[in-house]
Amino acid sequence: MLCPSVLAMTSPTAAPPPPGVVPIDPAERVGTKVDGVEVLGALSPSRAGDFMTCPLLFRFRTIDRLPEPPSVDAVRGTVIHKVLEDLFDLPAAERTPERADAMVEPTWEDLLAAEPALAALFPDHDEGAAAGHWLLSCREVLARYFTLEDPRFIEPAERELYVETLTDTKLLLRGVVDRVDVAPDGAIRVVDYKTGRAPKEASEGAALFQLKFYALVLWRMRGVIPKRIQLIYLGNTEILFYEPDEADLLATERKAQAVWEAIRSAKETGDWQPRPSALCRWCSHQALCPAYGGTPPPLPVKEPADHARAGQAPGGQTPDGSSG
Ligand code: SF4
Repeated sequence: MLCPSVLAMTSPTAAPPPPGVVPIDPAERVGTKVDGVEVLGALSPSRAGDFMTCPLLFRFRTIDRLPEPPSVDAVRGTVIHKVLEDLFDLPAAERTPERADAMVEPTWEDLLAAEPALAALFPDHDEGAAAGHWLLSCREVLARYFTLEDPRFIEPAERELYVETLTDTKLLLRGVVDRVDVAPDGAIRVVDYKTGRAPKEASEGAALFQLKFYALVLWRMRGVIPKRIQLIYLGNTEILFYEPDEADLLATERKAQAVWEAIRSAKETGDWQPRPSALCRWCSHQALCPAYGGTPPPLPVKEPADHARAGQAPGGQTPDGSSG
């Protein structure tokens, strides 16, 4: 399952975000200029994925910025990602299932201290039973990680790495990579953790888009095409991996460009079509969705200053919602 050539890795050298880039959320950074160059727009794989899933969902999340209540599944993912990030701060020999298990509750408590509203996930009336059950589920999912990798033999080069690159069309591609491993021969492996289940074969391409996107950005940043991209699904203990080539990554760049053009067109026309699918059951905005009898709110009013910003899409936001 693992690629031996990338098991012996370099020491951690996590790079800070570029100057001027202030993180709001690990997955969503504010807009930036790259070396003083104005960008026409910016796109992250998560926002591109939203648009490809449903243009109206993209609008609700990125243009309207409607709040979405936290879910126990999403917060479980946050806790597990943080534990897997911090696990590699320990000496290699201490990266055991027991140590990881012991990190779950303090990580949740830290998250709760930072975001007290998360307490609403677990009402008091059950005297903590729901929270205890949920913490147990976090531990169970985390334990599966150790059936897929042995972190004692992995030294990530980067964790939670912010990456960005500017295409020839001045589209800023950016995102945050869970983990980058670099083998002694320079081979790069891009790793992403998923706490859900691996997709069916027909949906693997969509799942791999995110990591091909990161591979493209890393190729542009470092001049080396990552040898392997790897999705680690803890929901059903499966690793989905792929070895991209130049043609794959150029196709990914064309796809990102096409998505951005489609987003820009929707912003100009105001036509954000709903695209009902099985994923609607997880959508927080069904009550506002015409596909379910709802009515979307009016679009936010554009500010005159938005149009004065050179090179930005109408509305003043870059298509993935950053303020540029
Ligand atoms: S309910 Fe479905 S169709 Fe409607 S906005 Fe959400 S994802 Fe799109």
